[in-house]
Amino acid sequence: MRSLRAIAVLTCMAWGAQDSTVKIAVDATDAPRRLFHVRMTIPAKAGPMTLLYPEWIPGEHGPTGPIANLVGLKVSAGELAIPWKRDSVNMYAFHVDVPAGVAALDVAFDFISPPEAAGFSSGSSATTQLAVLNWNQFLLYPKDVPPDKLQFQATLRVPNAWRYGTALKIRRESGNQIEFEPASLTRLVDSPVSTGAHYRTVDLGADNGIAHYLHLAADSDRALEISPETTAQYKNLVAETGALFGSRHYASYHFLFTLSDHVAHFGLEHHESSDDRLEERTLIDDGPRKTAASLLPHEFVHSWNGKYRRPAGLATGGFDAPMKGDLLWVYEGLTNYLGEILTPRSGLWSPEEFRESLAATAAELDTESGRTWRPLEDTAIAAQILYGAGDDYAEYRRSVDYYPEGTLIWLEADVLIRSLSKGAKSLNDFCRAFHGGPGGAPALKTYTFDDVAATLNSVQPYDWAGFLNTRLHSTAAHAPLGGVENGGWRLMYNGVRSEYWKAVEERRKLVDLTYSIGLKVKEDGSIVDIAYRGPAEKAGVSPSSKLIAVDKRQFTPTVLREAVQKTAAGAEPVELLVKVGEFYEVHRIEYRGGEKYPHLERNPAAPDLLSAIIAPMVKR
Ligand SMILES: [Zn+2]
Repeated sequence: MRSLRAIAVLTCMAWGAQDSTVKIAVDATDAPRRLFHVRMTIPAKAGPMTLLYPEWIPGEHGPTGPIANLVGLKVSAGELAIPWKRDSVNMYAFHVDVPAGVAALDVAFDFISPPEAAGFSSGSSATTQLAVLNWNQFLLYPKDVPPDKLQFQATLRVPNAWRYGTALKIRRESGNQIEFEPASLTRLVDSPVSTGAHYRTVDLGADNGIAHYLHLAADSDRALEISPETTAQYKNLVAETGALFGSRHYASYHFLFTLSDHVAHFGLEHHESSDDRLEERTLIDDGPRKTAASLLPHEFVHSWNGKYRRPAGLATGGFDAPMKGDLLWVYEGLTNYLGEILTPRSGLWSPEEFRESLAATAAELDTESGRTWRPLEDTAIAAQILYGAGDDYAEYRRSVDYYPEGTLIWLEADVLIRSLSKGAKSLNDFCRAFHGGPGGAPALKTYTFDDVAATLNSVQPYDWAGFLNTRLHSTAAHAPLGGVENGGWRLMYNGVRSEYWKAVEERRKLVDLTYSIGLKVKEDGSIVDIAYRGPAEKAGVSPSSKLIAVDKRQFTPTVLREAVQKTAAGAEPVELLVKVGEFYEVHRIEYRGGEKYPHLERNPAAPDLLSAIIAPMVKR
């Protein structure tokens, strides 16, 4: 054993007595086995010290840090082992007693990345071919220094021959070892890395000298074959955001686009990058590409709306303090709207695809029974429990509606500004005023409800606080469709599935008969959900059961769809044989309307503002 004093001297020699930078080395060479090895050196001084594992992850709006997957924790100072004890209440906190003379702790642990798990960044993130690394999963940090003030110097080793992309500044690389420039803990956690054996970086061009990159990591080389048309559309997206916001709050921007059927599918925003994960064939098959087209626009918008401008309650300055989600209808809702209108502005959707998507959103919200008990604001306040809520009885529960209903409310605000100003102003002006500013390096400017209402008023005088409060607190049976209707369109239903609807069903492997018999069934017969108080529910069908037969014939999607078609001619009820647990049930659904799917049709009584809203701002 070496003496404590000797260890302290060695530590000082290694790091410098005044150096408060935390060193972190992540070995990701076992990523194909979903194991990540971490070694850290954390400056310390004698006495009690608490190390934290990040719990509240920015952008995930909840305590989602995957602490259960941290294993093999050892704390030492050189060869001297130092015992640690987890806090009895806070599972994310580890207490150590730093011996006299010790100036730095050596911390080692492994992180197990979960297999085939849904969720956000704590879901599946690694396959044998690729990995997405979120630094918050690979570090502990001292409790008493704010993450903005804590400097981290990171190195990363990736599997041999894997390439990578990140917004983090690189100091040097050699072989498969990358050394990054020091960054604050906030910035490090905000800068994930994607890496893989099948990897391609597409240059999306510079706008006013600010570079944009699309980093593709996939489970196959074939999945990287983005078409020149799609590349051009993503370049349009860059130009359209410049026109919309007027400035950029980053030095360069990196889309980390991961294409795999075996990682969790979601997008997570960062200031200078986004972690976007979709099915392997998203870029090469038409259906998935179209149905997922708004993901990158959404996450990109967050660089302005979410990262630069953030509700005060979501900007806690750390990873250990609970977040308040009450303004998520701005953070996520406005982002959802802007992402969805930037998609056709960029050409990633045709105007018709945009309208079919909006029709699906409008119909879902307009028929949702949960809106009579849960006001929209509560979905935002309860965000941290809603992301993990079940899919069954979903429209009775009402889930994270601040996304889709945000689209409807901000569309209505956009249409209202355009109407009141007789076309002189629009929500584009709000975005320039609220999200613009000098631009440059990442910055954070928090806001409150009053700031939102005041900026709207500065663009177009109106009772915006009243407008927003009415919609946030309503328990009316129907959705706010004023934006659709005054924008020159109407929600209607007919028996025709749009190409967009078919693509969504195909992507989700689902038969969606919500608006006819009130049933959503997977291709394997699993009844995902029923429309609460709809025909199937009234007949006694419950979700999380299995459809075995339709009108005495073995279930297939076609058999079911044709049985519903026949009801248009006033035929017999649709008879379902359903398996619930170990028991079989027969349900007769009294329904006479045939198939029904939502669409938007032109409302000639109002000018077509919707088409004006989705028209490109940049001439090309
Ligand atoms: Zn979002």
